[in-house]
Amino acid sequence: MTRRATAGLLAVFAFALAGCAPVSGTTIPQVSADVPAPAGAAEVTSPPPAPVQSCPNLLASRRPPSPMPAPGQMPAGSTMAKIVQYGKLRVGVDQNTYNVGFRDPLNGRIQGFDIDMAHAIAKALFGDPDKIELHAITSAQRIPMLQSGEIDIVVRTMSITCDRLQQVDFSAVYYDAKQRILVKTNSAIQGAADLGGKRVCATNGSTSLSRIAALAAKPVAIGVPDWTDCLVMLQQGQVDAVSTDDVILAGMAAQDPYTRVVGDPLADEPYGIAIPQHKEDFVRFVNGVLAEIEADGTWTAAYQRWLGSLLPGAAPAPPAPQYRD
Ligand code: GLU
Repeated sequence: MTRRATAGLLAVFAFALAGCAPVSGTTIPQVSADVPAPAGAAEVTSPPPAPVQSCPNLLASRRPPSPMPAPGQMPAGSTMAKIVQYGKLRVGVDQNTYNVGFRDPLNGRIQGFDIDMAHAIAKALFGDPDKIELHAITSAQRIPMLQSGEIDIVVRTMSITCDRLQQVDFSAVYYDAKQRILVKTNSAIQGAADLGGKRVCATNGSTSLSRIAALAAKPVAIGVPDWTDCLVMLQQGQVDAVSTDDVILAGMAAQDPYTRVVGDPLADEPYGIAIPQHKEDFVRFVNGVLAEIEADGTWTAAYQRWLGSLLPGAAPAPPAPQYRD
């Protein structure tokens, strides 16, 4: 290092010290307590109505074809043949939800339970699980991106609801989640009844946010783009709680030991793989893949690899599929 560079560094150091107050012979930096909210975070003043979960065939999807077409040999003219011709399955996923759909910082790859489901569908289409194009999207982007044709499926902690069934189709249920509440370990909040007037975070476009806004206790709903925005706001004291699916909250609690999940479940959140409307052949095919991976142990291995360490108790049985025709 040159003498001039050393002098410059010392000057910077002296300048930095000027903002510090001495405490018992040492100095600590004076850090402002103001922390910015994540981009796009806002109080929700006119929330969508609470999700409706009672309508004909809510959870009854389409029966798989028998037999399933072999990988790489999709029926001519089918949705699956078009995907094989394109060369990759385009999937909308999360990159913010630890062990479900998250970017592994060590290798930069998006991984997790939902991502394993997506790879299984690619494997059944192509014979190669890696013929896949992952699009990291927010909760609010799921339906618009399916409807615009930018992606073939969404595998992103997406609950089947009556309202969404008007806009997209769903596979059979592949995971049964439940909405719960995450707080700091020193919080007095023990359940939904304690949320009156409290600031509670969830992503825009999620069932979680509309359910928070509809709670009898009347919390203040705070909408953000991504689930990690909620965790940061809780850590920074900008919200009092996060409320969404147990599996998402368990991932946050695993990353921050100063948080914990409390209270009884607020609602069932049955996850389906979402598919654009009018592609009944592909809905049946995806259901065939789900039935195969549930029967051959792939589903249970994925659960044990990603979710077993987050959720207490033994691995549940895969959800029993319901078909309407
Ligand atoms: N399962 C809920 C939903 O589909 C919350 C999870 C999410 O949005 O990522 O809206």
